[in-house]
Amino acid sequence: MILMICEMCGKDVTFVKKVTIEGVMLDVCSECAKFGIESKKEVPKEQGPKPIIAQRLEVREKRARPRDVLEKFDSEDIVEDYAQRIRAAREKTGMSLKDLAMKINERVTILSKIEAAQMRPDEKIIAKLQRELGIVLKEKVPEVVAAKESTRASLTLADLIKMQK
Ligand SMILES: [Zn+2]
Repeated sequence: MILMICEMCGKDVTFVKKVTIEGVMLDVCSECAKFGIESKKEVPKEQGPKPIIAQRLEVREKRARPRDVLEKFDSEDIVEDYAQRIRAAREKTGMSLKDLAMKINERVTILSKIEAAQMRPDEKIIAKLQRELGIVLKEKVPEVVAAKESTRASLTLADLIKMQK
């Protein structure tokens, strides 16, 4: 018969139990095993991450919901390819930059910068260009800006309803 030593009390025993005592796995006698958690009982402990994942999913779900609501609040923004759109439309009319500048009462340098995508036209210029060239320079974009998320999270549904009005 092989005798084993209880790592807890040092007694020679015929069998040891693997238990965890204060986070340390030990081979102990049945007496000492009472002080520890049997390894077999540790199995549920290994499933620990499960509730955490569940919690995270819950958090994600909670976050997703207000965002879904907020995505309906589109804001208008200038189109990405505004420069190309302006240039193409202007060239179609046969106007030079100078002609267009005179027509909308803006400086040529400003228009050339806008057409080179070096400058975003302001609201006033956008309106004039849209009217003059018959183009669309603004588009509705869903408001999904990470930086604004903290603000949004604090918004209640009531706030959103107010905003909508
Ligand atoms: Zn012992």
